[in-house]
Amino acid sequence: MKKDEILKKHKEYLFPSVANYYKEPLVIDRGEGCYVYDVEGSKYLDFFGGILTVSVGHCNKKVSDRIAEQAHKLQHTSTLYPTENIVTLAEKLANITPGKLQKSFFTNSGTEANETAVFIAQQFTKNQEIIALRHSYSGRSMLAMSLTAHSSWRHGNSQGGIKHAVSPYCYRCPFGLEYPNCDLKCATDIEELILTTTTGEIAAFMAEPIQGVGGFITPPKEYFKTVLPIIKKYGGVFLCDEVQTGFGRTGQRMFGIQHWEVEPDIMTMAKGIANGAPLGVTIARTDIADSFTGLTISTFGGNPVTMAAALATIEVIQEEKLAENAYEVGGFLRDGLDGLKEKYPAIGDVRGMGLMQALEFVGENKTPDPVTVKNLFEEMKKQKVLIGKGGLYGNVVRIAPALNISKNEVSEFLKCLDISLSKIVSKVKTVS
Ligand code: PMP
Repeated sequence: MKKDEILKKHKEYLFPSVANYYKEPLVIDRGEGCYVYDVEGSKYLDFFGGILTVSVGHCNKKVSDRIAEQAHKLQHTSTLYPTENIVTLAEKLANITPGKLQKSFFTNSGTEANETAVFIAQQFTKNQEIIALRHSYSGRSMLAMSLTAHSSWRHGNSQGGIKHAVSPYCYRCPFGLEYPNCDLKCATDIEELILTTTTGEIAAFMAEPIQGVGGFITPPKEYFKTVLPIIKKYGGVFLCDEVQTGFGRTGQRMFGIQHWEVEPDIMTMAKGIANGAPLGVTIARTDIADSFTGLTISTFGGNPVTMAAALATIEVIQEEKLAENAYEVGGFLRDGLDGLKEKYPAIGDVRGMGLMQALEFVGENKTPDPVTVKNLFEEMKKQKVLIGKGGLYGNVVRIAPALNISKNEVSEFLKCLDISLSKIVSKVKTVS
């Protein structure tokens, strides 16, 4: 099918909420490593990896071969029958996740993983209320939209029992303070939030180690260590959403939360775990998982093909030391981005960890500048480079290539970014 026909049918047969990037959407036909090709054969350097999902490169041979092999052997059984793949992946996850996380429940998306996590936290604690964070994104079900604190992604009637604490967003500190003199007010304020807006007994605190859709908001290193004792004091468990930050993305460690030196009681994963195969996981401490013995089923959850995709993806990440690569190459990327910030005053903030880096675009007095981001998207498309968007105002560029990206590709990316920026924003005035 030709590009125009696909675009026409997309308008005709899909919900209009299935929004595409770019004035004229890019119709992708195939992928290979860190590149994708459109239907007309043009090659693009992919620095968004299908929203932080293509961890080990498009159509990674090891992953694709395992998927194909499994699809020919056994594609589906439902969870009514145990398989080798489901137990192997569950054991693997128990081994690689931090702390006492032990038992898994498999679904098909991050949304479902978060639904399951909230449900099990409420079952275990016998409490109902959840503390979530502003600027967070949790998914698209009614509960997940209610947990999400980003108006563009919240629709319909929100569910009760969810209180949103301020985000540890230092660039735009909600208290107008400056780290480290702030004494982590964003964290300590949670105690007052609990005492004033809940019954005083909570089920969980839910947070992303780095807020993804929010624009890679990276908390100060003491943030989680300060919050968790408060949460425990009021009966809550810590539910860590690793949907974007998991599987080596943040560099050096397998999971983002490991940088913050605290242990989750429940963790959710999706996106990068299976290189694009639809998989959501909720892993919990044994006592938490065992607190619910009623029946619940996900027909496709834990199917042998997605389990094989996840096992192969994790193997590649471990064998090829991709968390290390994310640290090293991510550091190189970060240096380049910091350099561009010096050159272009429109870049207000550079933040993130490993291969999860963001640029926040601003005008005078830090006014969010989504127009520049829109223009940058079009320019980068002309340069044949794909980037992602985020932030409450759509003024943040998210950069997250596959974890096996090399410095050469990062250099190519930085060159294209510099050329694009030079066309759309002014440079810093030279002091005479
Ligand atoms: N949690 C986080 C942190 C996410 O970024 C997302 C997706 N952007 C989700 C949950 C929901 O995942 P899914 O789209 O697979 O339902």
